[in-house]
Amino acid sequence: MASVLATLLSATLLGLDGRVIRVEVDVAPGLPGLTIVGLADAALREARERVRGAIRNAGFIYPPRRISVNLAPADLPKGGTSADLALAVGILLGSEQFRPRPGRVALIGELSMGGEVRPVPGTLPMVLALDRRGVRRVLVARPAAAEAALAGDVEAVPVDSLADAVDELRSRRRRDRTRRPERIDLSPGGAGAAVGGEARVVVGAEPVPDLEDVRGQAAARRALEVALAGGHGLLFLGPPGTGKTMLARTVPGLLPILVGEAALAATIVAWVGAVEPLQALVERPPFRAPHHTSSYAAMVGGGPRLSPGEITRADHGVLFLDELAEFSRDVLEALRQPLEEGRVEIARAGRAASFPARFQLVAAMNPCPCGMAGADDGRCTCREGVPERYVARISGPLRDRIDLWVPMTRVAAREFLADTLPESSAVVAARIAAARSLQLSRPPHRLNASVGGRPMRLLARLGPAAQARLRTLADAERLSGRGTDRLLRVARTIADLGGAAAVDEAHLDEAARFRAPAARPIDALAAAMAGR
Ligand SMILES: [Zn+2]
Repeated sequence: MASVLATLLSATLLGLDGRVIRVEVDVAPGLPGLTIVGLADAALREARERVRGAIRNAGFIYPPRRISVNLAPADLPKGGTSADLALAVGILLGSEQFRPRPGRVALIGELSMGGEVRPVPGTLPMVLALDRRGVRRVLVARPAAAEAALAGDVEAVPVDSLADAVDELRSRRRRDRTRRPERIDLSPGGAGAAVGGEARVVVGAEPVPDLEDVRGQAAARRALEVALAGGHGLLFLGPPGTGKTMLARTVPGLLPILVGEAALAATIVAWVGAVEPLQALVERPPFRAPHHTSSYAAMVGGGPRLSPGEITRADHGVLFLDELAEFSRDVLEALRQPLEEGRVEIARAGRAASFPARFQLVAAMNPCPCGMAGADDGRCTCREGVPERYVARISGPLRDRIDLWVPMTRVAAREFLADTLPESSAVVAARIAAARSLQLSRPPHRLNASVGGRPMRLLARLGPAAQARLRTLADAERLSGRGTDRLLRVARTIADLGGAAAVDEAHLDEAARFRAPAARPIDALAAAMAGR
């Protein structure tokens, strides 16, 4: 018997991304044995035992021949057990134990010694990768079929065992297909929470406060609306008791639900490390609020298994950092790359991973260690220069990424007693959703905060008067080209909230009022808090 080469498609996981792999199995005369080449990790090398057991226990013959397995592309590191099923089927095809019907199909699944097909973590990103390659049919373990079906156009064929898979590959009969499950919200704690409407949103065990419950703070409410409408970085700055944290915690009730690619991406991230296959898309944008004592690895990613951190778990959502200045310098410094690129690269012990981190930053902090700087009653007990150094912890690059700086003072009693009810989250959320869909419907189909520099100049559509005002503002605030661009982005968002086609002077002026206090932060803040 001559040698027979069988080629099959499978997939592996690299970080959170699925990658297609080609499993080439050559069964030839010679000394019996199985060799695997192509950057396989330990789990994959151990596939030898699982595959041999599975083939025998499924009632087939493990061929007493020389079996060579090549995993391609050669330079892609391949890990895990997702290619077990493809490997076993390849051996059966290479030893001509069955004849497949034609058609492009991929196989994803781990095998037990007994021949059962088991689900593997990361089925969804793997199927998405196969989908991008034009594969329309994927055999997966039955428990993972619902997850695979979330990928959309791909037909997910559930199989229970190796024998079942062979049957599927050679049979002509149609079996039950796994339908795309209903889109229900399974985000952490989000189950059952209504999207908009009357019901209150719940994240984790804590109920999300409604803007209706936040008294006063008109400027801060407006800043929050602008920030969420355009995806801009936001910082609330003020003494304790001003409602910074409560306002930030209304965010989950203000963001529109995710659709399409964003929902798929959020789903993949939400289920990082989950053992059970997932059943539904996550549609509620993540809201992560890690404590300031969180470690670098917990925040940014890393650890022995190169796991993603909070900034990745906030992908397509909001990362809320309360007491921003209390986070470690390393963590603050590490926010720079993701805020710029939407990704984070982490490395440990010679291994590297790249994770998505397209989060919006919402932060809050006291203006000084005692918390009272800038308050009009002069109760700050910090020594001279201390408040300045405290605010300076939010250093250059991070500072540049925060487009809206919002000084907050305590709410006067009369505002608590006012008989007009503040706007509810539902009302504000509707305006935010409308402004966002305006942005996403025009090229380049991104939120204003993540649009490149040059298109923003065009998108702003400044008339002559607005151009003159922009020059005046840029001179007065000594804005760099980048600073001017970021001012324009916020102004564009303010125009979008008002449904205006072009950015005018009023939009620019409002955007300028939100900018970071210039050279002497505390003085400027104190002035701002005292009513500008
Ligand atoms: Zn102080």
